[in-house]
Amino acid sequence: MTEQYYDHFIGGDWRPPATGEYFDSFNPATGRPWYRAARGNHVDVADAVVAARNAFSDGIWPRLTPTKRGKLLRRLGDLIEENAEELARKESLDNGKLLREMLGQVKTLPEYYHYFGGLADKVNGELLNTLDPAILNYTRREPLGVIGAITPWNSPLLLTTTKVAPALAAGNTVVVKPSEHTAASVLALAQLFDQAGFPPGVINIVTGYGTEAGAPLVRNPGVAKIAFTGSTATGRAIAREAGSRLAGVALELGGKSPNIVFADADLDNAATGIVAGIFAAGGQSCIAGSRVFLQDSIYDEVLAKVVDRAKSIRIGDPLEATTELGPLALREQVEKVERYVELGLREGGDLLLGGARPVGQGDGWFYQPTIFTGVENTHTICQEEIFGPVMAALRFTTEDEVVRQANDTEFGLAAGVWTSDLGRAHRMAESLECGTIWVNTYRAMSPLSPRAGFKQSGMGVENGPSVLNEYCHPKSVWVNLDQGRMEDPFVLRT
Ligand code: NAD
Repeated sequence: MTEQYYDHFIGGDWRPPATGEYFDSFNPATGRPWYRAARGNHVDVADAVVAARNAFSDGIWPRLTPTKRGKLLRRLGDLIEENAEELARKESLDNGKLLREMLGQVKTLPEYYHYFGGLADKVNGELLNTLDPAILNYTRREPLGVIGAITPWNSPLLLTTTKVAPALAAGNTVVVKPSEHTAASVLALAQLFDQAGFPPGVINIVTGYGTEAGAPLVRNPGVAKIAFTGSTATGRAIAREAGSRLAGVALELGGKSPNIVFADADLDNAATGIVAGIFAAGGQSCIAGSRVFLQDSIYDEVLAKVVDRAKSIRIGDPLEATTELGPLALREQVEKVERYVELGLREGGDLLLGGARPVGQGDGWFYQPTIFTGVENTHTICQEEIFGPVMAALRFTTEDEVVRQANDTEFGLAAGVWTSDLGRAHRMAESLECGTIWVNTYRAMSPLSPRAGFKQSGMGVENGPSVLNEYCHPKSVWVNLDQGRMEDPFVLRT
């Protein structure tokens, strides 16, 4: 039994849960609990929303000049940089992803706070032209109020940051409900907010389960908008609930991304990109390139290269520098992968590699890199998100055919295209129905570039300057410059 307890962070204080109950958070590499987090419910959520609302309405936060808000965000970025090792270690212990991957990710977070800190004083309105010269019309972009941020377990700090940084830059306050599986690093971030000098209540963190703490946050009338990353099923439930009270939502959801290799590509690079797309992070990535389309003439050659590399992947302790594949984050996730592998076989697929838990990994939640051949794009394992190290290899002949197949899914998050033909690269970028296209690379992202899922992969946008619109109300102000001219009350002024 672990002795480490974490409370909620509300109004600048650490507060125990209203019920006094805590829940275990597990280390996936050992299958054992390593701390206990507050089991939040609607009472804790209501307290956090009041704290955030007070910080917003009392004007502590919106009254700080945007330049000062930007400065605080940049200071936070610097503190994250100084504490990157500790934050990354917490993430790795919580979700089992490689320490060096999490460290790489955490080291990019300062860029987000620096970038959005820099944008804080550029949230301007516009002076508009009018039809009547006696009318002055301008717009203001005002913060929405309290933002509820609900995040998943696969990249806890990154996906908290993509919401919190722009929301705060625009002058909102925030209540975060991190995944019940990975609260530790987000709670450590709260300490850094405090240290950076953010006023109490600007950022609040309530831990707990989705139905007990997440759902009350979505229902709370004090929350203006929910920014969510997670599964499509949860995203739909949140959109329904928020829609019933006309609250806004921004949703970043699941994917079933195609990674497409043409015969004219650099095949070694493409093979590495395929391995990166599906086996990095054990496939527990919304952008996992789980459907790999290989053109007929190079199908065997590229597949052989991928199998060779995948066979040599070193499975083990994610804290070790030489490990390439850690455990899956949850016991249920391993069981889910097992169910999909059985289904893939039942539907006629062949296992070229993997298909089982590896031996010799103790009680950790590991699964082998797995490759299916002999599957069709219509098979369940090619249509549903598995969120594990399971790749389906598919054959194609023509560009038109692969575009049709790649688009034949309910998702539209991302796609990879490997080709040396410039024209083809741009044609593919136009034809693929998804929010991110990588050409001759995979998994690149930055705070400067928008991410917006098509179809069932999401609504709204994260990153890039336009994300600030997600967190602002446009307000149109009309001023009569000609005092003497309030004439006909029945005619519109323009
Ligand atoms: P999930 O949907 O199970 O949970 C996400 C969060 O929602 C958690 O904090 C959970 O507690 C909360 N939640 C659950 N039910 C809720 C409810 N009824 N009301 C309010 N909150 C609720 O997702 P997960 O398993 O944690 O994460 C994996 C999923 O996230 C995958 O589908 C993956 O594709 C997706 N994801 C998407 C992106 C993206 O940018 N599009 C990035 C990472 C992960």
